[in-house]
Amino acid sequence: GEYALRERVTADIKIGSYLFKVSGQRTIEEGWIRYYKPYTGVEDNPLPSLEKGDRLRVLSLEVAERFEQPPPRYNQSSLLAKMEKEGIGTKATRAEIIDTLYQRGYIVGSSIEATDLAFSVIEAMKEHSPNIISTEMTREIERALEGIEKGEVSSADVIEKAATHLLSALEGLKAAEEDLALKVKEAAKASLAAEDIIGECPLCKKGQLKVLRSKKTGKRFVGCTNYKGGCRASAPLPQKGKVRSLSRVCKVCGWPMISITLGRYPWRMCVNPSCPTKRKVSRL
Ligand SMILES: [Zn+2]
Ligand SMILES: [Zn+2]
Repeated sequence: GEYALRERVTADIKIGSYLFKVSGQRTIEEGWIRYYKPYTGVEDNPLPSLEKGDRLRVLSLEVAERFEQPPPRYNQSSLLAKMEKEGIGTKATRAEIIDTLYQRGYIVGSSIEATDLAFSVIEAMKEHSPNIISTEMTREIERALEGIEKGEVSSADVIEKAATHLLSALEGLKAAEEDLALKVKEAAKASLAAEDIIGECPLCKKGQLKVLRSKKTGKRFVGCTNYKGGCRASAPLPQKGKVRSLSRVCKVCGWPMISITLGRYPWRMCVNPSCPTKRKVSRL
């Protein structure tokens, strides 16, 4: 097709002792771009005409701080792909490994987030037995297992090698058992505590509503974490069934919504005892 001609102008502008760079571009001869315009992404943003040595007026100065977008979180399928790329697990075990991570509370959500528990386990392992969390070791063992499948190496050799690796890793862990147990226990406690949080307190808007147990009766109820700050928000709870936050508030009164699982069906309800919806508990 016809040639296109584009002009690109750059200018260095000195303000005080700082140098600013600016550039603009425009199309002079449209040429083939005429036909492909929507697909080229070519845009004109010409600079006003400038001559070397021009003096410009500074209209405004702005200090801006910008951050790069963090990479997107993994979901189950992108995590599977990453594991495959890293050589972690086999076709048969990868999905199961991810399931286990969910079940043990190391990850949550469909856009996967690692929990504090996961971080503290990794931290503790890093400190005491870096081998066991290195993908290198896992990969080596997986590769050896494949070797057995293909009949390239003897299973006795592989088992002995893997056992030596694992034993030395386990020895490191064994020596640090108490420290590890303590760290992981703290994290587990914290993650359990987070589970009991139901949502922001609608009364004081400072504390959080949380499942608590009465020291006197042992019965559970909902109270505000800002009790010491004077907030008396509270609500009764059924004594049986698993209580979960639904991470949203009641449209009528603004208190958090919860679900209670007793038997097969979860029930959702507003936690506010005097909510106008109270008489209509709906079934999921
Ligand atoms: Zn409160
Ligand atoms: Zn309500």
